[in-house]
Amino acid sequence: MNYYSTNKQAPVASLQEAVVKGLAPDKGLYMPEEIKLLPKSFYENIGNMSFQEIAYEVASRFFGDDIEPETLKEIVFDTLSFDTPVVHVADNIYSLELFHGPTLAFKDVGARFMARLLGYFIGKQGQKDVKVLVATSGDTGSAVANGFLGVEGIHVYVLYPKGKVSPIQECQFTTLGQNITAIEVDGTFDDCQALVKTAFLDADLNKKLNLTSANSINVARFLPQAFYYFHAYAQLAKQGKADNVVFCVPSGNFGNITAGLIAKRMGLPVKRFIAANNRNCIFYNYLKTGEYKPQPSVQTIANAMDVGDPSNFVRILDLYNHSLEDIRTDISAYWYNDDAIRKTVLSTYQTTGYLLDPHGACGYQALKDSLNAGETGVFLETAHPAKFLETVEQITGESIPIPAKLQAFMQGEKQTVGMDKDFGSFKQFLMEN
Ligand SMILES: *Cc1c(COP(=O)(O)O)cnc(C)c1O
Repeated sequence: MNYYSTNKQAPVASLQEAVVKGLAPDKGLYMPEEIKLLPKSFYENIGNMSFQEIAYEVASRFFGDDIEPETLKEIVFDTLSFDTPVVHVADNIYSLELFHGPTLAFKDVGARFMARLLGYFIGKQGQKDVKVLVATSGDTGSAVANGFLGVEGIHVYVLYPKGKVSPIQECQFTTLGQNITAIEVDGTFDDCQALVKTAFLDADLNKKLNLTSANSINVARFLPQAFYYFHAYAQLAKQGKADNVVFCVPSGNFGNITAGLIAKRMGLPVKRFIAANNRNCIFYNYLKTGEYKPQPSVQTIANAMDVGDPSNFVRILDLYNHSLEDIRTDISAYWYNDDAIRKTVLSTYQTTGYLLDPHGACGYQALKDSLNAGETGVFLETAHPAKFLETVEQITGESIPIPAKLQAFMQGEKQTVGMDKDFGSFKQFLMEN
């Protein structure tokens, strides 16, 4: 299947081109030319299928023309080596726990899939020395680094701002070794992002090196996020709870929720979606006024959603043919400030015993505030609360047990390369390493 650019000024791309390029040459985002409906029998039987089996059926509708069935199956099964359970939290409200992967956040699914797909394409071309560049303020770097760890032919460079990433996040991409290099930039996240962007625009560098990006606009990270919406539905169907399902998605760049909208387009019986935001409520304002006004991002305690110009917004526009009315039919939006997030984490913990992370808290609260009679609400718990240890411990006044997976990272030895924010030294480093 081919992929077109949301800007419609670039030629269509094959899956391989779209994955290797990331962004289309006209700066648009790639979209699949066709969103295939899954047959009725699939939905009738879905309660009896495993997560991996469900995901393979979904994946084959997108990638089946471009990858042999056995290879695709291997990629999907290998990616999903962990579960995404649906857990009951309160009346008619369930948590879709996406934090059981290696770095305890939902980004593991897309990053692991992309690493395997890119590894496959690179192997097919006989390439050996592909450099993946990624700038991170925390979660993306760990998911991408762990996703690509040990993938042959690929070396990953994670750029992060020195002293601005929490120690727990930092250890998840600085202790890995092998084909992962962590670069500690003396600057801000924006400086890191600028270094990566400049590298992709540098003609000299691109002539000599095979550079690619693993950020969330890549179709190979974006589309696999649809898998767990189907799996959540399957788990509810098993319990007879699958009528009138509402998915509520804590959103930053809106990649995760857009994958859910695509699942709906494939026939997944979802009643509606909610986008839950922190104070960066650009999408809420868009739904209210019909005007999309990006803003500089503001810092919050749900920091993975501190996005002032969500990159996947153009995919939502494209999916709904720019119809505000149709978008409003499928999606509503809620937003919460830090105080409200803190209150939700505390009161939910006290009344239900369930410990939310600050992102999931926005999702849970939006369901509380909007669920109608007869609806079943599922919020996506996008990360484990221990990833935001200090914030969550301050709210509850209790210490959180740190999962063994996180502890293992914390025992590793930190290895980083120091770098100033000057492009010249970064370029030289890439050429020499
Ligand atoms: C990245 C992230 C989000 C935002 O997801 P988008 O796909 O960018 O909307 C939400 N919560 C957590 C914990 C994240 O890491």
